[in-house]
Amino acid sequence: MSDLINPYSMAIEQFERVAKLLDLPNWIIEILKKPKREIIVHVPVVMDNGEVRVFTGYRVVHNDARGPAKGGIRYHPNVNLDEVRALAMWMTWKTALVNIPFGGAKGGIKCNPKEMSDAEIERLTRRYAYAIADFIGPDVDIPAPDVYTDSRHMAWIMDTYSMLKGRPVPGVVTGKPTCVGGIPGRKEATGRGVVIVAREACRRLGIPISKATVAIQGFGNVGYHAALIAHDMGFRVVAVSDSKGGIYNPNGLNPRKVMEHKKTTGSVVGFKEAKSISNEELLELNVDILIPAAVEGVITARNADRINVKIIVEGANGPTTPEADQILYEKGIMVIPDILANAGGVIVSYFEWVQNITWTPWSLEKVRRELERILISAFNEVVKLSKEREVNLREAAYMIAINRVSEAMKARGLWP
Ligand code: GLU
Repeated sequence: MSDLINPYSMAIEQFERVAKLLDLPNWIIEILKKPKREIIVHVPVVMDNGEVRVFTGYRVVHNDARGPAKGGIRYHPNVNLDEVRALAMWMTWKTALVNIPFGGAKGGIKCNPKEMSDAEIERLTRRYAYAIADFIGPDVDIPAPDVYTDSRHMAWIMDTYSMLKGRPVPGVVTGKPTCVGGIPGRKEATGRGVVIVAREACRRLGIPISKATVAIQGFGNVGYHAALIAHDMGFRVVAVSDSKGGIYNPNGLNPRKVMEHKKTTGSVVGFKEAKSISNEELLELNVDILIPAAVEGVITARNADRINVKIIVEGANGPTTPEADQILYEKGIMVIPDILANAGGVIVSYFEWVQNITWTPWSLEKVRRELERILISAFNEVVKLSKEREVNLREAAYMIAINRVSEAMKARGLWP
């Protein structure tokens, strides 16, 4: 993300714009502009060479009026408090929009996991979990994977927390391996959700799936699964990229083969059956659907003018700045906002949590069916409101979400 873009200012700007449209009471606006709780921890870790390094970690709860706070934990060199605050706020809107009984939270550790061994990452994760243990729990705040974290990290957090409590507490985190309370279909869930809403958008615009071309920025958990599921559904995935660069083949790429290449070489770059392109070039390709699935702030006032697609599906959180949003809207590009487009992950996290707190397993078939049902209904609700109120899809999604949070806050009232 560019140094000039502060994700928290971006999140506040998006919120304030919609707060005006909704005529929210001032006290609700004042509360929602700030997170409810911010924790900063400095965690010492013994590195493999015997030296001790101290890492900074965060856990921010934005709001829990509608239920326990929910959101992932990110490991990245650029993690900082403002980024975590923005991501926590976006989680509040996301859970409210898809109407699952959670609030919003986010965590992160400033580190470069690519330069650390598995053992170092495990020690870091456990010590971070220990440091925030008093502030998380199945009915308090429930972490999950995010950028550069996955089911292994969740198993370590679940184990550390359970050790401290003296009993197994699988519901403290979601995105766990299935052998310790994880749910089938969680790993692919965000990518599957992205493709479900892309398909619904194509239906609305009358674009046949077999003719639709797709470019995906990011080949991590979200980007890879989006590519795979889109490919299997009949879309033509023509470009993908990762932090090292991108690849393009107008005749289509096979995501499974690209993943094999990435596994052996560390990147999608150099894949034989494609031409090399940069991440910037990928965003400006002439395709039907663009899926930014990496980090925030990649579509800005600087490049929005050069984006010529029909649909943008935001797999990442916060990929489009408010200025860029306006430009894309004027160009007639349909932007499916992050809080809808990537909600598949937290929706299936909710199923996992229900599975854990009721000690009742769910089948993959049930997960996929319920995921589709919730996402399609949220998608239709957003499109309907955007037409009624003549606002873009992000504003419509925010209106629905903020209204739900505000109703909960009004019902509970301000105590004391
Ligand atoms: N990190 C994911 C997100 O940004 C998933 C969060 C969760 O499952 O709690 O939506």
